[in-house]
Amino acid sequence: MYKCGKCKKEVKALDQKFTRCPHCGWRVLYKARQPIAKEVSTD
Ligand SMILES: [Zn+2]
Repeated sequence: MYKCGKCKKEVKALDQKFTRCPHCGWRVLYKARQPIAKEVSTD
């Protein structure tokens, strides 16, 4: 999962040759990590 640096839209599938946003064509994408839910004990 990637996120466009310009339009902030999620980019699910990336072309191997052309790494750019399919929505606006911006070439700067950020890796969007899915937050991993962890059980944290606060006791
Ligand atoms: Zn974009």
